[in-house]
Amino acid sequence: MVRVIPLGGLGNIGRNMAVLEYNRRILILDCGVMFPKDEEPGVDRILPDFGYLEGRWNDIEAVALTHGHEDHIGGIPDLLKNRENIPIIGSQFTLALVKNKTEEAHQNAQFIEVKEGDTYTLPSFKLEFIAVNHSIPDALAIYVTCPDGTILNTGDIKLDQTPIDRRITDLNHFSKIAAKGVDLLMIDSTNATMPGVVPTERGIEKELDFIFSSATKKIVVTSFASHIHRIQQIITVARKHNRYVCFDGRSMQKTIPLARELGLISYDPSMIVSSKNIGDYPDHRIVIISTGSQGEPMAALSRIAKGNHPKITINEDDVIIFASSIIPGNEKSIFKIMNQLALLGAIIYDSHNSKIHVSGHAASTELLYLYNIIKPKNVLPIHGEPMHLIANRKLAESTGIPHRNVMKGLDGVVINLKNGQAQVIDQLPNTMVKVLG
Ligand SMILES: [Zn+2]
Ligand SMILES: [Zn+2]
Repeated sequence: MVRVIPLGGLGNIGRNMAVLEYNRRILILDCGVMFPKDEEPGVDRILPDFGYLEGRWNDIEAVALTHGHEDHIGGIPDLLKNRENIPIIGSQFTLALVKNKTEEAHQNAQFIEVKEGDTYTLPSFKLEFIAVNHSIPDALAIYVTCPDGTILNTGDIKLDQTPIDRRITDLNHFSKIAAKGVDLLMIDSTNATMPGVVPTERGIEKELDFIFSSATKKIVVTSFASHIHRIQQIITVARKHNRYVCFDGRSMQKTIPLARELGLISYDPSMIVSSKNIGDYPDHRIVIISTGSQGEPMAALSRIAKGNHPKITINEDDVIIFASSIIPGNEKSIFKIMNQLALLGAIIYDSHNSKIHVSGHAASTELLYLYNIIKPKNVLPIHGEPMHLIANRKLAESTGIPHRNVMKGLDGVVINLKNGQAQVIDQLPNTMVKVLG
């Protein structure tokens, strides 16, 4: 019997983590964090409840990571406080981002680097890694085999057929996995309510080009620092329009040079200027790529909007581009910043008035393709708010997967997998731990 317990990510988007247990041995898939909303002052971060692992730390064979977003890796330093040498398995870029965190926490973490197509054998679990396309480079799906069952976790996934790095979701590999058998499919639900397919990332460049063409003053673009392909396109368009680029915000200044070192982004370093020297350039020659797309109060864009930034001010006709989505729950903080910027005279573009963002998660038609290619025996929709999980269950059933094989449940649901049949058997009482800052 294999036991599967998603500790987070089912009910809220954030703090994704799943415990897989076979014969008293444990494999963890992802270990993410969730950030507090405005109405939770004093809370620094929200973690999955590690209570189930108490007294079991030495049973953990590894943590395997799908990709490097905070909602999948942000809880690792807290996890390692319980046992520092839990092996951490992931792709090159994912591990580079985790390493930043464990080094900051002065932890001597043990890393095992893998890439798509690799297999890795632990004492109780065999892992196989599949390339998937998402809004961060180097993302992987993970296929876990143990004597009593097979589990495929898609991680965050989309099916962009023309991604910037040409690394598409490997449907061919998924069909080979399907032939081996998938007893339980854990599948991304984020966009299960969205009809159709997600447009290609490549379309963003044209839209940026259009906005840049009409800009007369400085341009600020905000995005996640880890969205390397979005940032690549911003830099490409900046070059075309003869503008210098300034990276602003800690994660931007750290992540982009790291991605360049790993060959994931390319630019001429002579285009890059520091915010310290930004005053030496005329406004129409500058693009600032900043953190803070989710309205985070301490991030660069928030400081710029409040007039608290030491070097960057916003004036009439400056252009601000939110090249990002609004993560549910962050609406209030983002709109507050947009209003502050508007009052300063900025022209604002976001996904409401321009095609400046595409999602990193497969929409419903693409999820149907995945069900039909992977042909799972049982399904557990993950990574979503309740409405997304429920929509994804219906998609699964519409492809012919029997109702009783589509798992219901939120964080902390305990699922047993035996002889190819999954079944909800229990529910953990607590699933969330708020860490005060
Ligand atoms: Zn992600
Ligand atoms: Zn995620």
